[in-house]
Amino acid sequence: MKDVSTVIFEFLEGLLGEGGVEVASTIYDNEYTDEEIAKETNIRVNTVRKVLYRLYDNRLASYRRTRDKKTGWYIYYWKMDLNKASEVMRSLEREYLQKLMERLEHERNNMFFSCDNGCEKVIFDVASENDFRCPGCNGKLSYVDNSSLVRSLEEQIKKLETGMEN
Ligand SMILES: [Zn+2]
Repeated sequence: MKDVSTVIFEFLEGLLGEGGVEVASTIYDNEYTDEEIAKETNIRVNTVRKVLYRLYDNRLASYRRTRDKKTGWYIYYWKMDLNKASEVMRSLEREYLQKLMERLEHERNNMFFSCDNGCEKVIFDVASENDFRCPGCNGKLSYVDNSSLVRSLEEQIKKLETGMEN
């Protein structure tokens, strides 16, 4: 089972996409316009903008806006917003905790059966409907002792809850 930092990392990787890490680290502690970021990172300005909007959408970056006196256009200065980043992390942690708790309940409230061929385990109802044959490979199903999985879920939940109190 994945731990929470893996989940967060995958989320960020998926969220930021191409050029994301470079853009995020450029505006990590300094304000830049999209064009300055593009120059700094050698990433096309369209890609830079996509990353910025994704960061902004997820409240991981904010901007300051000023009007260019010559052209009258707005100039946007972007910066990572780490206060909000930690809020986002927290809400990801809460989501992950929720998933773990649902999984724990599912594991506690069911009996599981599986074949010897590595297919996904099934709950009692499914096993009995299939005359204790695996729905995936038709192999013989036998009882699965999930007590160590239950213990590991309980430990992960406890660890997360302790971490979130601090
Ligand atoms: Zn099977």
